[in-house]
This record gives sequence, structure tokens and C-alpha cells, in this order.
Amino acid sequence: MVVENAHPAVKTPEEHAGIVTLLESRRIQPKHARRGTYLLSGLLYCGKCGYSLQFQPKPNGRTLVKKCQKTDTFGKCCGNRGIELEHVERAVIESLREHEAELLRTPI
Ligand SMILES: [Zn+2]
Repeated sequence: MVVENAHPAVKTPEEHAGIVTLLESRRIQPKHARRGTYLLSGLLYCGKCGYSLQFQPKPNGRTLVKKCQKTDTFGKCCGNRGIELEHVERAVIESLREHEAELLRTPI
């Protein structure tokens, strides 16, 4: 049973939001992700082996998701190919838009 306002608030809604933000920022471990260098920093993993993928700025101003760098215990490289980051970002945003539309269609 939940009774609202039965005791003085332990934390304000603003403090709660701050704590949630802090916890979420700590869940992502790589240094680049904390710095937020790229939109998907710390969130992109190899589809073949699950290793975290690295980004590399290109001379033309675009960004490359580097070829998977993971090597197995025998020194054999995973070798999953790289791709330009903008293709991945576009796919993620498109997928988020579809998800948003689905949520908006769902009655509360
Ligand atoms: Zn891989």
C-alpha cells in the first residue's frame, strides 16, 4: 500500500533527477563515453563478437567506426568491418522514431 506525502520527502524531485542522471552516466564505463565525444560513444558493440567499438575522426571531417580490434586467445583478429558513423546514427535515430511512434499509438 502506498500513501503519498505520509512523511517529509527524503529528496526533492530535482535531487531525484540529478541522482538518476548520475547513475546513468556511471553505467557507461569507457572514458570517451563519459566525455560524450560522440553521440554513440560507449554504446556501440561488434555484432560478431560483442567487443566495444572505437571511433576514428577522418580527414574529411566524418567519423569512422573502426574495424573490430578484438583478438582471440590465438591472436586472430575478429575483423568485423568498419563503417562511417553517420550510417549507424541514421539507423539508430530512425529506429528511435519508429519506437516513439509506437509508444504514442499505445493507449495509457
Ligand atoms: Zn568483433
